[in-house]
Amino acid sequence: MALLKGKTALVTGSTSGIGQGVAEALAREGCHIMLNGFGDAAAIEVQRSGLEKQYGIKALYSGADMRNPAAIHAMVEEAEKQLGGVDVLVNNAGIQHVAPVDEFPEEKWDAIMAINLSSAFHTVKAVAPGMRQKGWGRIINIASVHGLVASAYKVAYVAAKHGILGLTKVVALDLAEAGVTCNAICPGYVRTPLVEKQIPDQAKTHGISEAEVIEKVLLKNHAVKQFVEVADVAALVCFLCSDAAKTMTGVALPMDGGWSAQ
Ligand code: NAD
Repeated sequence: MALLKGKTALVTGSTSGIGQGVAEALAREGCHIMLNGFGDAAAIEVQRSGLEKQYGIKALYSGADMRNPAAIHAMVEEAEKQLGGVDVLVNNAGIQHVAPVDEFPEEKWDAIMAINLSSAFHTVKAVAPGMRQKGWGRIINIASVHGLVASAYKVAYVAAKHGILGLTKVVALDLAEAGVTCNAICPGYVRTPLVEKQIPDQAKTHGISEAEVIEKVLLKNHAVKQFVEVADVAALVCFLCSDAAKTMTGVALPMDGGWSAQ
């Protein structure tokens, strides 16, 4: 029996990478899905209709820009109207920029703060009344091991990911008596387009080859010497949605190959 049959999930940034895998795993568990993110319209339609066909659920797509609070509220309203509410919210949309602090562009700082941190405040604020009304909800923030530790050249990303762990704790307390949990997952490196894009940038910044970036930068702190897999992050999201996780709230769960143990 599908774990989440009849529930509805909104996954921000679900047209690629981790979010795409999370949306599929939740659909497999019977959730109706609101997809969100950017990308090629035809490819997104293939993804949306594919979820409906394969899992027998209803899937919608919103191109809401996570920098725009009004667009976020409109996306949640659409999910409430067309899919009957948002029971599971996965704040996943995120971007990265790599540069030393004294060269870090102001507009990149602002965009990373807006997408990786502030959007989660706006989505939570928009879904919380509906979750309270139903007396059930699951909020899962895809943070990062960079919510727990820092790496050079990532001032905005590390600040935003540390911030989202603070948001996770407060939301967990504010909604605790409403049957709503809020947790964060802190993955190490997952080989998605976001990471692929960093490889040439890091090679340039560190003055090393792309192969060396993988070995000496990306997997340096993974004790297990392998990337984290999207499907494993998605499986943890499904666990956090299960009844067995009902008393887990306000926590940051690393899935980082042993990075934060060091
Ligand atoms: P990705 O680049 O593959 O996907 C990012 C998604 O966010 C895409 O769907 C994109 O369209 C969407 N997006 C970007 N800007 C947006 C905006 N303004 N409005 C709406 N959607 C927007 O990246 P990913 O690696 O799958 O990362 C997903 C999340 O996981 C991010 O929050 C990232 O920080 C986090 N994370 C990734 C890794 C990793 O190694 N890949 C590790 C830890 C945490």
